[in-house]
Amino acid sequence: MSSPIAPGEAAPLDLFDRLPDEIGALLKPMGAPPYRGMQVFQWIHQKDAASFEAMTNLPQDLREWLTTNARLSRLEPVEVLDSADGSRKLLFDAGGGRRYSAVLMPSADRVTLCISSQVGCRMGCRFCLTATLGFQRNLTAAEIVGQVHAAGRLLPAGSRVSNVVFMGMGEPLDNLDAVMRAVRIITHREGLKVAPRRTTLSTVGLLDRLPEVVESGTGVSIALSLCATTDDVRGEVVPASRRHGNLQALVDTLVRLPLPHGHSFTIEYTLMAGVGDSVDDARRLSRMLALFPNKVNLIPFNPWPGAPFQRPSDAAIEAFRRVLADKNHRVSVRASRGLDIGAACGQLDGKGLPGGTSSREG
Ligand code: SF4
Repeated sequence: MSSPIAPGEAAPLDLFDRLPDEIGALLKPMGAPPYRGMQVFQWIHQKDAASFEAMTNLPQDLREWLTTNARLSRLEPVEVLDSADGSRKLLFDAGGGRRYSAVLMPSADRVTLCISSQVGCRMGCRFCLTATLGFQRNLTAAEIVGQVHAAGRLLPAGSRVSNVVFMGMGEPLDNLDAVMRAVRIITHREGLKVAPRRTTLSTVGLLDRLPEVVESGTGVSIALSLCATTDDVRGEVVPASRRHGNLQALVDTLVRLPLPHGHSFTIEYTLMAGVGDSVDDARRLSRMLALFPNKVNLIPFNPWPGAPFQRPSDAAIEAFRRVLADKNHRVSVRASRGLDIGAACGQLDGKGLPGGTSSREG
């Protein structure tokens, strides 16, 4: 039998991050018809097969060949922390003593999973605990997709992850090739079947990479993380914004990008006491929002030990929300989940907190 492994490519092959036509092309030299690629993909991503031997509609010689020449890099959490509010934080081994996290948030009408795209992050946002780790490495597409599989295995039979948000550790647009490959698998109708609109990439505003996401044809949703309405304040809190474009450039980009029909940008606005949380900020934000389709989530800052910011008062949060609502913007205040296990927005550092309950350790 001839081998489809390309020169220089590591063997055995990991099929976990391959799309159906890519698997089909790998199997072609074995004399396998193209539909075998789709069958293997379905076994991996729909049926979560643990081995090639379990793929019972493949010929025995093909299963044996795959067992010898390929592998499935299935991901298992090394620890799962349970929050009193029902959310669960999954911790994965990144090697070198590092960990990365995903947060599972079941609710009455959906199961949302917040996933990581990098170990650490190089954007340096001062309100974010992940930033204190610095940048460790990019996650591979297999490690990104594997978080969805691992979370799915924790759910009761008949339930599955319905919404995926790239709001865990890392800036997804800083690891765009792996993220877009993962997105194609997560949203594939023969794969993990998460609706593209319910798959959200959240960015601090890497403007040179946003067009690639919009023009990818994946139809994923895009969220913009903001925390200020002036360039000076934004540059202080999100240093990366100085390199990736000021607020005017951000608005110009959002105005220009051709979103699919009916889509809008989500603005994730972090409210910190005394930083971009004034009524004047709300008015400036309102003027920006008038220029492109959007909805706004206000995220009151979730403090962590040593954080340089405080959560605003409830009155200040309501005053900010009221300005936007009175201008007829779609605005809501996000109720953070997983605070007791260090799983809320801005709190991910690859660790648990003492208040959480660990339900598994490997
Ligand atoms: S908020 Fe996001 S982009 Fe900013 S440091 Fe944290 S993980 Fe990175």
